[in-house]
Amino acid sequence: MSIDADTKKFLKVITLKNSVEHDGKAQVDVVVAKLAGSKPELRGQIKVLIPEIKAVVQKINAMPLADQKSLLEELAPGEAAAKKPAGEQHLQLPPLEGAVHGKVVTRFPPEPNGYPHIGHAKAAIIDEEYARMYGGKLILRFDDTNPLKEKLEYYEAIAEGLEWLGVKPDIVKNTSDDIELLQNYGKNLIELGGAYVCTCSQDRMHDLRGKGLPCECRRDRATALERVDNMFGGSYGQNEAIVRFNGDMANQNTAMRDPALFRIIEGNHPKLGNRVRVWPTYDFAAPIEDSVDGVTHAMRTKEYELRNALYFAILERLNLRKPAMIEFSRLEFEGIPVSKRKIRPLIDNGTIKSWDDPRLPTLAAFKRRGFVPEAIRKFVLSLGFTLAETKPPFETLESFNRKIIDPVSPRLFFVRNPVEVYVKGAKEAEVVLKNHPTDASLRTRKVKAEDRFYIAGDDAASLKVDDEIRLIELHNIKITGVDPRLVTAEVGGDEIRQSMPKIQWIAKNDIIGYKVMIPKELYVGEEYNTNSLEIARGFAESFVSGLKPDARVQFVRFGFCRIDDSQTAIMTHR
Ligand code: ATP
Ligand code: MG
Repeated sequence: MSIDADTKKFLKVITLKNSVEHDGKAQVDVVVAKLAGSKPELRGQIKVLIPEIKAVVQKINAMPLADQKSLLEELAPGEAAAKKPAGEQHLQLPPLEGAVHGKVVTRFPPEPNGYPHIGHAKAAIIDEEYARMYGGKLILRFDDTNPLKEKLEYYEAIAEGLEWLGVKPDIVKNTSDDIELLQNYGKNLIELGGAYVCTCSQDRMHDLRGKGLPCECRRDRATALERVDNMFGGSYGQNEAIVRFNGDMANQNTAMRDPALFRIIEGNHPKLGNRVRVWPTYDFAAPIEDSVDGVTHAMRTKEYELRNALYFAILERLNLRKPAMIEFSRLEFEGIPVSKRKIRPLIDNGTIKSWDDPRLPTLAAFKRRGFVPEAIRKFVLSLGFTLAETKPPFETLESFNRKIIDPVSPRLFFVRNPVEVYVKGAKEAEVVLKNHPTDASLRTRKVKAEDRFYIAGDDAASLKVDDEIRLIELHNIKITGVDPRLVTAEVGGDEIRQSMPKIQWIAKNDIIGYKVMIPKELYVGEEYNTNSLEIARGFAESFVSGLKPDARVQFVRFGFCRIDDSQTAIMTHR
């Protein structure tokens, strides 16, 4: 199999660009990654194309830099100097160190203890993009080793969230599938002297850890061996014993001070019921699972950084293969904490009724609010692969979404806090309104306009006698009176002037009572924002009542919304 002429030209261009940017030397893996990134249809066959790609890279690398530049100019005029527009700059992730095409395995390991949020989307998308970029595999591994926290509902919510996002794992598994394997590695580690069973009280453990001192449980190896069977055989009760890593109690890195590897938890596990009592901690399960699953590049957020030493120490002592570990920054927004730890209490105490409440950063909420998954992916990739804990403005995500939904959202009228307008002498007319200014496929709607209308309260409040305003797509009116409850006017001309206010309106005979939920920031500082959900009430045109839930609209001069039910929309963003 070989590359067609167009792709070959494209291949030369990306190779030239890469070499020109790097003093005349292109790198095969970068070129392969870029090719796979830009031509997803080739991803499946990249492996067989590699010899040909290598040949192109070698040929180009052999050319003098000046010749490379002129060839690039010839093949892609302007490319040598071209810069991508702002915002689209990082849509491609940087190459993965040590990645071999066709051999990369990444994994996304959520704990099914809540609904997935946009932080999970970031992790899952990065994991998936890398797997695809290198023609590798993505594992979705439910990290379910705490029966007290996990529920079937959450496994399902995570799977649904990923499906909505368009993240398609190649393998789906649960950490709990491997519970026996994990326990066996645990016993093994104890036998090797790499761990011990500690029966100290929690207070004592805490105290000694603070002081950097080991306890007797660790010093006495014979006892440790004796206790293994008791631990895994079920002689201890909850909180009576834990398995601890035989680390270094004086280590500067407190994560190495004999952390817990197994604990006894009495509870009903969603997959295994109550037949397992000794559960591995995240610290023990993660490295073993990554290693035995064949993960080559394990990625996680930066707050785990101090635990990397432990991750590798466990694999080292068990003589297991070590994946590469890569950190990225946690995604947070100002005023919208992206963490189950912050969301769950609001749900548990009833402040927020459901995980898809539009104020939340869960994927269910983004969906309900009218965001499209492509916008989330573009947003995540635009953040790039940084370690800096910056909070990107929420508006960045909104603008990715706006670009996608703007061309497909019909423009309709909603008037908030309506005020009646009586237009003296206005004739009854059936008007045809365009649903979109440029896209005729979004069609039109008919409205019977008479002499009574509603306009938004804010618009009414700004009117003065003698003002001339335009009722959008209808005609002008000239204001003759501005009583707070009734604006009176006369029919004006038809000429649209730049300076004239152009406002949306609803014919009095065409109204439906309507409300729009406007999600605001969930937190102000550390406090829950009691005004986080604003409700705008008013009238919409009757046409809106025919829209199905999920439909997207742009209420003119108000904002983009998703229809939630026959009388309610949710504001996506302005
Ligand atoms: P939470 O604080 O929401 O409970 P978590 O890290 O405990 O988060 P997990 O379900 O264990 O949640 O996370 C699965 C993966 O998602 C991990 O690899 C984690 O690093 C990543 N992840 C979680 N939250 C974020 C975030 N806000 N930004 C980026 N990645 C995240
Ligand atoms: Mg977690």
